[in-house]
Amino acid sequence: MKLFNTLTGKIDEIKSLDKQGKSNEKSKEKGKGKENAKGAGKGKKLNLFVCGPTVYDHSHIGHARTYVFFDMIAKYLHYQGFKTNFLINITDIDDKMIARSSQSGVPVPEIARVHLQSYLEDMRALGVKFTKYARATDYMPEIIQQVKQLLDKGYAYETPNGIYFDVTKFKEYGKLSKQPLNELNVHRIEPDPTKRHGADFSLWKQQKQGEPAWNSPWGKGRPGWHIEDTAIAMHFFGEQYDLHGGGIDLIFPHHEAEIAQAEAITGKKPYVKHWIHVAFLIIDGRKMSKSLGNILMIKDFLKSYPPEVLRILFLQTHYKRELNYTKEVVRTAEAAHEKLKILMEKLAELKEKDSKKYDKGLRVTIGREKSKLLAAFDDDFDSPKALTILFSIIKRVNTLFEENKLGKKNAEEVQKFLREINSFLGILPKERKVTISNELQGLVDERERLRKEGKFRDADKIREKLKEKGFVIEDTPQGPRARAI
Ligand code: AMP
Repeated sequence: MKLFNTLTGKIDEIKSLDKQGKSNEKSKEKGKGKENAKGAGKGKKLNLFVCGPTVYDHSHIGHARTYVFFDMIAKYLHYQGFKTNFLINITDIDDKMIARSSQSGVPVPEIARVHLQSYLEDMRALGVKFTKYARATDYMPEIIQQVKQLLDKGYAYETPNGIYFDVTKFKEYGKLSKQPLNELNVHRIEPDPTKRHGADFSLWKQQKQGEPAWNSPWGKGRPGWHIEDTAIAMHFFGEQYDLHGGGIDLIFPHHEAEIAQAEAITGKKPYVKHWIHVAFLIIDGRKMSKSLGNILMIKDFLKSYPPEVLRILFLQTHYKRELNYTKEVVRTAEAAHEKLKILMEKLAELKEKDSKKYDKGLRVTIGREKSKLLAAFDDDFDSPKALTILFSIIKRVNTLFEENKLGKKNAEEVQKFLREINSFLGILPKERKVTISNELQGLVDERERLRKEGKFRDADKIREKLKEKGFVIEDTPQGPRARAI
């Protein structure tokens, strides 16, 4: 699989640093279809670190875009035979946490506890699965150790306000965001006059009155944002690892600073081989913000739609393009979801019938189109192209349904294909076994009889009755059928 790598500025093949097993090169088989075959990863480990949330508020659908994307990537790489280890860090101490605490009067640890819980609930609801999450405050000894190493090696200096990383000492500072050091003079908040260079960033902050603090060789204080991530990642993955991701806003200064810290400590390059960044989600052409009142929380979205609709919605736009969330894109995703739902139900019903019909051509079509679909994912996760291919297959299946050409074996083959790609996409509606009781079937038959007799008004009354019971009637070439709403 290839993905755009912010570090090299190219679309690079994902290769594991894991030396065990056969090399990826050797495992490539000839022929397009086979290249995508399950097992291309040959059981090699892939360590993926994604920057998690700062837990001072509930997560919105912009956050969901980033985490759902990496969930799909982790699962797709697993599908390809890699052993993906997906780690998320949780920022539970920083300026925003402290600001929220002083506004609300709620202590920082309580704010963190409530919003971490909320985040985990949201991720579960969206079907996002990571291997592990790690809270910054649980790794204070590792953080302090890294700050010490940077001081010892001369990459950091102490001021009355804390410890800073000296960017002029790390000559490659700017290599990720492609900015020359002499053009950098960035302050996130008010510049601290004790800094030597405007772009120097904080490694350790001295405690201010009322702030949570930890003991350190430099007195009581708390870590800077960037050092939390390198301390956690190195603890779990060692000095170098495979993949690091986050939203596009994190390229600078966050990820740039992580590279500087880690490479300064270990002297090993690159700290991370592949850097992956997801473009932002905006709403109706505008950035989500409190002042505009247009922040859509994941929980609120899920009150109106199933999670699969959001996953389809994300797939409709390539991850490197800004996603403009509008009513229109939700409608399109909902319609696609409905199509999948109806198809899954029709397939389940067809499997119940002991039909011996079999369309051989469909199997060939699915095989051919599946290769194209996987090739699209392999090519920088081209999800819009893959979705187009998926729905062209579905269209073909529906046409064959209309023509009454499919049987049980076809149904099984289509289901197998859909479930296979769903193992990394998570877009199929939850399969519910819906049993049509004798009473319901009786009503469907009665309505059909009335229709045939031209008693349309009475037939419509029965349709309404079925609706009240949670079913709609669909008239298909095989006759009317009840479907759960
Ligand atoms: P934060 O809690 O703000 O640090 O964000 C957590 C993660 O979500 C980071 O990887 C951000 O880049 C990402 N993120 C935040 N807002 C958006 C957005 N509107 N669209 C996509 N990703 C976002």
